[in-house]
Amino acid sequence: MNAVDDKTVVREYFNATGFDRWRRIYGTEEVNKVQLDIRKGHQQTVDRVLAWLQADGNLQGLSICDAGCGVGSLSIPLGQAGAMVYGSDISEKMVAEAYQRAKALFGPSNTISFAAQDLESLSGRYHTVICLDVLIHYPQDKAGEMIGHLCSLAQDRVILSFAPKTVALSALKKVGELFPGPSKTTRAYQHREADIIAILAKNGFAIARQEMTSTRFYYSRLLEAIRR
Ligand code: SAM
Repeated sequence: MNAVDDKTVVREYFNATGFDRWRRIYGTEEVNKVQLDIRKGHQQTVDRVLAWLQADGNLQGLSICDAGCGVGSLSIPLGQAGAMVYGSDISEKMVAEAYQRAKALFGPSNTISFAAQDLESLSGRYHTVICLDVLIHYPQDKAGEMIGHLCSLAQDRVILSFAPKTVALSALKKVGELFPGPSKTTRAYQHREADIIAILAKNGFAIARQEMTSTRFYYSRLLEAIRR
């Protein structure tokens, strides 16, 4: 399957069954044990990013692009902290949910703007570009182009998270693939950390802070890269 097909599949998934599934996981409703574990893991990633940005002490008015923002799990708290957030997602449904969640909290006037947009079509310049748990939808050969584009939008910093490709995780994924079942969703791509760091370096960025979140079913490597 090529990347264009992958993208169509991803958009359609997150506008249909994927929307229902992930809206619940990234919400507060009752979910099954696996989903609850993923919810907790993902929240740890979001909390870590918030903690880094809050520790810097300059969030007020900082321009942030949240590429592939989902239902706004990160965009919304960043907006609450006073950042100027531009959240976008390839799925109209996900981004509409993000907008509704923000509106319920802030009312119609807030500092977050949301748009249904493929991240490759994003333009402009932001102090910080953040892209959490989206690389899972990109095969290795497309990751370079995607990260390169995000780097071109970032004045100072890029923050990325991805499922790391390790021996243990590859084995787990293989086991999962033996049992496709009804819960099989889109293809999931893991990435080697060294490859991601090399792509960032090629685009002029060096790693500053990093974190690994692992729960039973959620694995995410988080990297903050600063323009050299
Ligand atoms: N970043 C959000 C978060 O951490 O809460 C959402 C993560 S969710 C696992 C992946 C999201 O990436 C989905 O909302 C999906 O629609 C979006 N996505 C996938 N490919 C994309 C693309 N090419 N451009 C923009 N968004 C994309």
